[in-house]
Amino acid sequence: MPEELKFPLEFTKCPVCGSTRRLAEELVKQEQEKGKIGADANPFLFQQQTLIMDPRKVILSFPVCISFYDVCLGKEGKPCGTVYCVHAELGQGAPQMKQPPPGGNMRQFGFPQNNPR
Ligand SMILES: [Zn+2]
Repeated sequence: MPEELKFPLEFTKCPVCGSTRRLAEELVKQEQEKGKIGADANPFLFQQQTLIMDPRKVILSFPVCISFYDVCLGKEGKPCGTVYCVHAELGQGAPQMKQPPPGGNMRQFGFPQNNPR
């Protein structure tokens, strides 16, 4: 059995150079100091969602891991550029209900990754 994870997970420094300076975080801070954006802005470059579920099973809710990534700025004048996860949290997801097909009266559950689009 793997050790149970405790969420949220925080990764406070770059795994490569050990710097704590990050691109999106500093940009957001700069703009907040100028008063251009609010204090609740998200200081991350992008986020990724992982649905923790079996796509073959119909279930009403499942855990979703949301991880946030940023780019390391490096330290002591040495640029770094490593993209790493700075924060990960666990939430609950629910399958989206599909509209019933025309003429059909069966209720269907749909999952976004099954949409052909
Ligand atoms: Zn780094």
